[in-house]
Amino acid sequence: MTETVKDAAPEQIEFRAEIRQLLDIIIHSLYSNRDIFLRELISNASDAINRLKFEMLTNRNVLDPDAELGIWIEVDEEANTIVIRDTGIGMTHDEIVQSLGTIAHSGAKQFMQAMEEAGKKGQGVTADVIGQFGVGFYSVFMVADEVSVTSRSYKPDADAVVWTSTGQGTYTVGSAEKSERGTTIEIKLNDESQEFAKNYKIRQIIKTHSDFVDFPIYIKEEKRPTGDEEQDADQEKEFEWNQINEQTAIWRQSIREVDDEKYQSFYRQLTMDFGEPLLRIHTSADAPVQFYALLFVPSKKDYRLFGAKEDYGLKLYARKVLIQENFKELLPQYLRFVEGVVDSEDIPLNVSREMVQKSALIDKIKKTLVRRVASQLEEMASDRPDDYRTFWKEFGSFIKEGLASDPDSKSKFTDLLRFQSSQSKDADDLISLKEYADRMKSSQSEIYYIIGDDFNTVSRSPHLEYFKKHDIEVLYLTDPLDSFMLIGLTEYNGKTLKNVDDSNLDLPEEETAEAETKADEKISGDAFEALVSRFKEVLGDRVEDVRESKLLTDSPARLVNPPDAMNANMHRVQRLLGKDYSVPKKIMEINRGNTMIQSISTRLSTNSGDALINPLIEQLFENELVAEGIHPNPADMLPRIQELMQAAAQVGREKAEAKVEAKENDVAPAEAEVETEPEASEE
Ligand code: ADP
Repeated sequence: MTETVKDAAPEQIEFRAEIRQLLDIIIHSLYSNRDIFLRELISNASDAINRLKFEMLTNRNVLDPDAELGIWIEVDEEANTIVIRDTGIGMTHDEIVQSLGTIAHSGAKQFMQAMEEAGKKGQGVTADVIGQFGVGFYSVFMVADEVSVTSRSYKPDADAVVWTSTGQGTYTVGSAEKSERGTTIEIKLNDESQEFAKNYKIRQIIKTHSDFVDFPIYIKEEKRPTGDEEQDADQEKEFEWNQINEQTAIWRQSIREVDDEKYQSFYRQLTMDFGEPLLRIHTSADAPVQFYALLFVPSKKDYRLFGAKEDYGLKLYARKVLIQENFKELLPQYLRFVEGVVDSEDIPLNVSREMVQKSALIDKIKKTLVRRVASQLEEMASDRPDDYRTFWKEFGSFIKEGLASDPDSKSKFTDLLRFQSSQSKDADDLISLKEYADRMKSSQSEIYYIIGDDFNTVSRSPHLEYFKKHDIEVLYLTDPLDSFMLIGLTEYNGKTLKNVDDSNLDLPEEETAEAETKADEKISGDAFEALVSRFKEVLGDRVEDVRESKLLTDSPARLVNPPDAMNANMHRVQRLLGKDYSVPKKIMEINRGNTMIQSISTRLSTNSGDALINPLIEQLFENELVAEGIHPNPADMLPRIQELMQAAAQVGREKAEAKVEAKENDVAPAEAEVETEPEASEE
């Protein structure tokens, strides 16, 4: 080891103008984000150790070749100081002047530009701005009154050097005494930063920002009494170095190296979710971009999705240095339920977050990740159907959102969709589009679906009569998001998706014909025409048209969507979004084979002034609005329902009285009834 020169007085040098500017911004504007100074210093130390490791690949002639590679942090609460020491590559006199006297890296330059622009626009510096940039070493002046950096290069002949500054425009460089390789940074904290002289605070910052740094980070802590020792107040305090960081970047390990327990504890640290994830994707790629990824699908939608909507996103590391938590650009927004870490060797360190966000590298990683997520979910669906059911229940809506919002998602995620159908045993019995297509009838060319509020309501819908009768499966879309999803999902494997309320369905022909003849047997042509006219008169422009139904067999009526109408799904979407919603105009189809329709028809031909005809038509119409889930205010129907009930009750009473009377007079009740109540001749 060469002796260091100690006689020469330290040289005082002015910071270059750009650094003075940077310091000024850091000291005065970034106050609320002071924590990050430690992340920056640890990251520098970790870089320095990495560089030494690299050097040692080819050169064993380094100072202290056997020294442990690590980072040691010591606080002194009384003196209000922090010391951070590493056994990295160190700096020579020239290197320290070069590195700490100029802005070496682009991050700080970008940062200054952004600050300048924000200043021009008259915007203040927001708290999240600083985190976006690696402002590097100078961030230490947020917390420091004075900083000294003592360094000894790995080159065995180099002298130790010390750099000091108060961050006020000048720094000094002089000789130092330091026999071990590496860098020691001593920080005299300013009065407002006393909290950083506490171990718990340092520990917390390390856990948050530097937990997966490659090298051990130790802090010096008082030894905990073991219990056997005498508690002696005068006894000298004993200290020990405790490693704080997890250190291993498990995403960089091979799958064989990591056991379930380790994955689980990593997952817990990452998400604070104590349940087990439903899916773990540990993967890496070398081309087109090198990256490692460790992703998880939680078993529950957690607070991130609903509580703090902005908190989603993966953790992005570039060469093990955390670039950003909640990095949103690595996955499309609809996959925001995926948690995890991505680490790439190809992303350059020290570029701003904004630059990284826009980078083509990120896009390439994203593409690969989306593919992996989709294929792993498909694998789960076929190998672990129970888990997939849980997944679908918790996160199905996100997949639907994807289909609605991102056309690219269609090819990858359509087969993950699950629906109830007319063949479901209960609401939990779900099928995929593939299953539907596989069991379609050979004469069937379209995929049919019905939209409604829930399984029970939908199963009773008049729209399904025809389909049930002819054993044609219909998908039940009962999730409010389904209407959104249909914006992006219009066909599957070349088969168009059709709403059963569509007025021109391409139904297998002989079957429609059959339905037609059956319905034809009922009300006579003229009577039916008169009935249709009355319906039109009563309903006016609340309906597009009134006509006979070709498909209904039991129900009295149904509402179908006119062929040129605005997409029925868009109506629902608008309603869900609370946009000025008006009841969509539909075609009312009535079933001439239905007894209720026949009753109204009989009333009409017997007495066109019958007071019950119009309310019955009105009520029938509104019943269908309710069945469609599009009634704007069902409570409005109550007065009319009362009126109709009153009439029914009246008829009932008169009938009962007639019965009693008939019994007394020994007359057939039917006759008595006709005499007393000609208007209520129908049963
Ligand atoms: P960077 O983003 O390049 O790390 P910094 O301002 O943080 O920018 O540091 C400037 C330079 O100072 C680094 O590039 C590195 O060369 C040197 N440096 C900083 N800390 C250390 C250290 N602990 N050991 C060795 N060199 C260091």
